[in-house]
Parts: sequence; structure tokens; C-alpha cells
Amino acid sequence: MLVMKFGGASVKNAAAVQNVANIIRLYTDQPCLVVLSAMDKTTNHLEHLAFLARDNRELDAKDQFQRIMRFHLGIIRDLFGDASAPVEAKVQPYFNEMERIVTGILMLEEFPPRIYDRIVAYGELISTVIVSAYLEFADIPSFWLDARQVIKTDATWKQAGVIWSLTEENIRRGVAPLVQPGRVVITQGFIGSTTGGHTTTLGREGSDYTGSIFAHCLNAESLTVWKDVKGILNGDPRIRQHTVKLDKLSYEEAVEMTFYGASVIHPKTIKPLYNKGIPLKVKCFLDVEAEGSVISFETNPEPVASYIVKKAQTFIRIKPKDFSFMEERLMQEIFDHLHKSNVKVSLVQNSAISLMLCVDEKLSENAEFEALLLDKFTVEIRNGLQLYTIINFSVKDLKEASEAVMVQQHENKLYLVK
Ligand code: ASP
Ligand code: MG
Repeated sequence: MLVMKFGGASVKNAAAVQNVANIIRLYTDQPCLVVLSAMDKTTNHLEHLAFLARDNRELDAKDQFQRIMRFHLGIIRDLFGDASAPVEAKVQPYFNEMERIVTGILMLEEFPPRIYDRIVAYGELISTVIVSAYLEFADIPSFWLDARQVIKTDATWKQAGVIWSLTEENIRRGVAPLVQPGRVVITQGFIGSTTGGHTTTLGREGSDYTGSIFAHCLNAESLTVWKDVKGILNGDPRIRQHTVKLDKLSYEEAVEMTFYGASVIHPKTIKPLYNKGIPLKVKCFLDVEAEGSVISFETNPEPVASYIVKKAQTFIRIKPKDFSFMEERLMQEIFDHLHKSNVKVSLVQNSAISLMLCVDEKLSENAEFEALLLDKFTVEIRNGLQLYTIINFSVKDLKEASEAVMVQQHENKLYLVK
């Protein structure tokens, strides 16, 4: 069984949808489940709609709603021409619901956080209905699955945590029998629901993670993520002049890359695949024949250096005011504060009388965290830094270390905060 995921760029207009259908057609002789994102930047547009509604900007919200609806109806017309009406009728109930929710919010004083998830989830619901209808239209039998019926989560709005036991059971019982050769199952990335039936979302760019959840629970042969790039590169081409495609990466290398800022794959995607040894293929939907990259237990036989940059980092140095050693009890206290203040730590280093951290830059806004510490510790904070991760680094990369405020080296990996 195969699981494939197509992102927003792969379904950004009618021609792109046709291209996706042509790719899916190549795999119809095998059991296959396809996870789809919202079309193009729809999630951003829905997010904006939710915030306009929250801020009671009635005219702007209505405008934004119309724009989102027109965009999708335009794609339907381009795809189906004279046969558009039945497909429009399929998506219309979603637009009606969305309009009702937005109107409701405009009348309310508050904005219940779960409404965000409810609104942004329409992007995936609508895109899957359109693509599923188009597959039928192109003589590719398909089955539309509401991912919310099987992906069960807690109620952490915007960043819901998957309840694995329930989800696995639902997918094994309810989805596995549906995935048959000759009929592709189409479902939504990014969304799930609570046991009480409220729609949730798994975090922005979460569709890769959905693909991984399905692949894990279905014991798939592989997960293929189709992107507009030729595979995973050894650096961000917007930053580095020369990049090469990595043919093979180990799960560990991939986790390091995504955790430390490479945006190719959602960071949560790797673990469920690693746990079952399912390979993750990254392939280009613009060049189906091309090899792409494969993430598995294997790495490139020849090590290739990869360069990852994580921006907007903060360096913190914490020292006990009374010259105490930085012992476990103090570290525990500091980490408790970090955890409670929801500060994400990227890198940790200690010495006899100090603890140094590199964290995602929420800290300067997080007065509470600082106040808790200032009592006992002196705290030095430097904002606006970058964290450089070099996998398979070489001696010449070490020269860069002299300008860094924090340097760490683990096996073949070098981390620099500058
Ligand atoms: N549509 C969602 C987003 O843009 C999820 C995804 O595309 O992965 O964040
Ligand atoms: Mg997207």
C-alpha cells in the first residue's frame, strides 16, 4: 500500500490539479491513499478571514470570504467547464457553513479559539472534494474520506496532539479495507477532530504529518511527498549559492534538518515513519521521472555536507547571583520555567557557574519568564541571532566557530549560534 501527499502548490490551479490526476493515474494498479492540502495559499487566506472576523472587520471579512469562494469556483469552472454545476453543488454547503460561522463571530464579542481550526479546515475539505470529483471526471475511481472521522486529537487548538491509540484503531478498521487497487482514497491533510467531534488542526504545514500518520497506521510500503522541488537539498537555495540534491538521507539526518529549520518536511513527520521503518520519498510533481530523495535507515555512501539555518533565535546566559554552581536542582528550576512559559529550546550548554541556551525568539516578549529568573540569577539575553547546523561538517566549517556565542559538536554535526 502506498501513501502519497500533495501540497498546496501541487493543486494551485486547474492545470496543477490535472497534473496531480495524471500522477495518481500512474499508481492506480496499487492500493493507494492520497493526502491533500488546501489549494495554493488558501490556508493563509482562511487564517486571515478568521482574524478579520475576530476583529469585527465585517466588510473586509465578507470581502475575503467572497475572494476565497471565487478562487475555488474559478478552479471548478476551469476543470469541469459545462459540467461544473454538480461539483459547485458539492462545495456550496461548505461555503454556506463558513459564511454562517463568520457571520456568527462578527456578532460575538469574543473569539472562541476553536473557531480558528473550524475555519481554516475548510481549505482541505474543499480541495479534496474538488480533486476527488476531478478524478472521477478523468475516469479514475476515487473515494473521499473525511480525515476528521479517523484522526482523533486532543483539544489543543491550532496544534492538536494526535491520540494515537484511537487513530490507529480507526484507520486499521475503517480505512485499510477501503484502500484497494483501482480506487484511490482521497483525504485531507492537516485536520482531525476531538472525541467530542470538534474540528482541530495539527499545526501549520501539517499535511506531511497527516501523510505520516496514515502511512504508519496502514503499515504502508512508503510515503511519497510530492513537491515543486527536485528533492531535499543540502541547503536553502534562497541562502546558499550552490546546493546539491541529497539522494539518500537517514531518518536521523532528516530529523536534525527539520528540527533545526529546514522547511522541506514538517518536523513531526519523521518519527511515525522511523518507528515502522517506512521510507519517505520526496519527489517532484513537475518531473515525475526524476529520482528525488529517499529518507530511510540508509544514508548517502559518500557524506554530503548539509547547511541549515534557523533564524530569529535568542541566546541566554543564566548565572546564579550568589556564585553557586549550576547544579541539577537549579537547572531543573530553570527548565520548569521554560516549560511553563512555552519557550522552545534549541540548544543547551552548561559550565560550572552558568547555563547557556539558544531558544526560539519568543523570550523577549516573555517578561514572565525573565521575572521568575531575575530573582536568583543574572540573565544575559541576545536576540536576533541565527542557529547554523552543519551535518557532515568539515574542518573549514570550524573556522566559523570563532564568531559564535555558542558552539556544539556531536558526531558529524556542528551547531553554531551567531
Ligand atoms: N494547508 C495547511 C497549511 O498551509 C497544511 C499544509 O499545507 O501542510 O498550513
Ligand atoms: Mg500548505
